[in-house]
Amino acid sequence: MIDRARLASLRRQEEARFVERHPRSAALAEEQRANLLAGVPMPWMTRWPGSFPVSVAAAQGGRLVDADGLEYVDLCLGDTGAMTGHALPAVTEAVASRMATGATAMLPSEDAAWVGAELARRFGLPFWQLAISATDANRFVLRFARHLTGRPRVAVMDWCYHGTVDETLAVLGDDGRVVARPGALGPQADVAATTAVVPFNDLGALDRRLAEGDVACLLMEPALTNIGIVLPAPGYSEGVREITRRHGVLLVIDETHTMCAGPGGATAAWGLEPDLLVVGKAIGGGIPCAAYGMTAEVAERLSGPMLGHDIDVAGVGGTLTGSALALAAIRATLSTALGEEDFAAAVPLAGRFTAGVVGAIDAHRLPWHVQRLGCRAEYWFCPPPPDGAAAAAAVDEELEAFLHLWCLNRGVLLTPFHNMALFCPAHTEADVDRHTEVFTDALQALSQ
Ligand code: PMP
Repeated sequence: MIDRARLASLRRQEEARFVERHPRSAALAEEQRANLLAGVPMPWMTRWPGSFPVSVAAAQGGRLVDADGLEYVDLCLGDTGAMTGHALPAVTEAVASRMATGATAMLPSEDAAWVGAELARRFGLPFWQLAISATDANRFVLRFARHLTGRPRVAVMDWCYHGTVDETLAVLGDDGRVVARPGALGPQADVAATTAVVPFNDLGALDRRLAEGDVACLLMEPALTNIGIVLPAPGYSEGVREITRRHGVLLVIDETHTMCAGPGGATAAWGLEPDLLVVGKAIGGGIPCAAYGMTAEVAERLSGPMLGHDIDVAGVGGTLTGSALALAAIRATLSTALGEEDFAAAVPLAGRFTAGVVGAIDAHRLPWHVQRLGCRAEYWFCPPPPDGAAAAAAVDEELEAFLHLWCLNRGVLLTPFHNMALFCPAHTEADVDRHTEVFTDALQALSQ
């Protein structure tokens, strides 16, 4: 379908255009290479298109300005960290005020009760704890699940992503055995000993695996969002709940990305009934924080250990976790953003994006698809895949790198390692149409 020679030559042109347009980012990247491993403060930043990452100068709402003064429609939104839109005034104010009165004391502050109550209201789970990141929250939850059940393994979906949690960096190998995910550096332990992996949308496989009796919890996103978006087939979510209950396996729903489905994530939108729930990234309006909630029954079973003398070395919690600063940021975020009215503004923009991309794909008779979940949409170079492995098989690094660079060079930022666009209430229809125009031009250029 795609002329590879043409793709390579267009990519070279775009690389040259990128370098020419970003002299200041180039200079900063050069300075960064002196003392930052891989020239970046965090390894994923090497995955931006172009031979160096652009340096951010400022971001506001749905727009970002780089060090060269170029402005972008930001459809990455910090890979969901800025799903509210950048620099919410209420968060800026609350964080500044809290900083001025002490950010961290390892004591609860007056925002704590409000935050617990608001999370309970949104997600329908009565008891909550905080974490610094969704990764952290997932790690804590896995520890609790093993403690409560006495079982050694955790189950995850094939090609899932839940942060840098060792057990979850596992996939099904060709022979059906559990192996480390390609690219996972220095696995801490053989994942075959820690993890059970099942394909998404396959209730039979889940039932058979959980019947072995060694799984403490199933950790899953309600829809896969980290290998394109793979939605649950009709009846799948209900089936997962019935099977996990029947086998005494705790169901942990990770809403870190699927919060794009609404104020209470897919859990509230679809009436899911998890035993534990993790949410991170966006809830602090940019301040690092996450939270995990649980049913009254799980809370009751954990109340003993949580009050134990050795809880400070139990492997859950952290010094800066649940700080007054984080609580103030969450309160300011959840009281002014990510509400019904915000989704009412952002979701139609994702719908418009989807229609625009579908139009371009159809015009070029490409067998690609776009999937949308709430205010998040992603295109993929294959027909809708039923599970993560099918989605992973359609990864096309060259094509993806080209499309991302083409968009960046024309003022639209997509999330690296996703063909994902996330919308916030500050985006406009004109922003969406800018992407449609640029994407359509890219397909036109490829087909000439
Ligand atoms: N859960 C899900 C579903 C995620 O997509 C991610 C990160 N992409 C995480 C957890 C981890 O979040 P963080 O990197 O902020 O710890």
